[in-house]
Amino acid sequence: MKLDENHTIKIRVLGSGTSMGVPVIGCKCPVCTSNDPHNKRLRSSISIAVDSRHILIDCSIDFREQMLRWPMPRIDALLLTHTHADHVNGIDDIRSYNYMQQGPIPVFTSAHSIEDIRRRFPHCFNPMQKGGGVPQLDLNEITAGKPFDAAGIEVMPLRVMHGRLPILGFRIGRFAYMTDCSGIPEQTEELLEGVDTLIISALRHRPHETHFCLAQSLEASQKLGVRRAFFTHIADELDHEKTNRDLPDWARLLYDGQVIEIQN
Ligand SMILES: [Zn+2]
Ligand SMILES: [Zn+2]
Repeated sequence: MKLDENHTIKIRVLGSGTSMGVPVIGCKCPVCTSNDPHNKRLRSSISIAVDSRHILIDCSIDFREQMLRWPMPRIDALLLTHTHADHVNGIDDIRSYNYMQQGPIPVFTSAHSIEDIRRRFPHCFNPMQKGGGVPQLDLNEITAGKPFDAAGIEVMPLRVMHGRLPILGFRIGRFAYMTDCSGIPEQTEELLEGVDTLIISALRHRPHETHFCLAQSLEASQKLGVRRAFFTHIADELDHEKTNRDLPDWARLLYDGQVIEIQN
């Protein structure tokens, strides 16, 4: 289904933190010790609801905690950006949804990520282990630039550079999600034309090899001409309130639990 203006896309931010989360274990910095709930960041992930269909992007280390706080009624499709630990290490807890839905969860990601998932979670694919409480995943290969059907919704996978590693971002209707981004190839810029609301990663103020810093994410969002930009995958260098105060009014740091609606 191609989304038209009759559809509302409802995004729930399940996690807005960088790979270590915020607070960082053992860190005594002002953000890690702050009382502001906006400064508590689980690892990056979002859920998307369109009509009665439910899509999860990434299955973070904090997936179990995220589903207890902001439960998805079901997972019709799991889209994976890449296989770094912070984005996939919650996979074992997919089991709960296998039980509830009485079947495997359709997963969509790149050929490279599929290979990596098979290697890192072999127990999910070992027939000897069937029925023994292992997650059931139905892996589907997708390619950047070629739209696919996730739970009946048309999704466009986008090529995003994460350092030298090409990973995936996703566009659904007039919404796009690109985490762990340090570069946006030209063909992806073209595929982002007409996007209204963008979620893009912004790690911190200082530059980083594999992640855009705040200034770079702002610049990229401005170049893409989106109406609203939200930043995710945030490290403990950025205080929620203080950072938001300095941002232009069309750009904001995300926070865990936030709901964003897009009238497509
Ligand atoms: Zn990450
Ligand atoms: Zn990563």
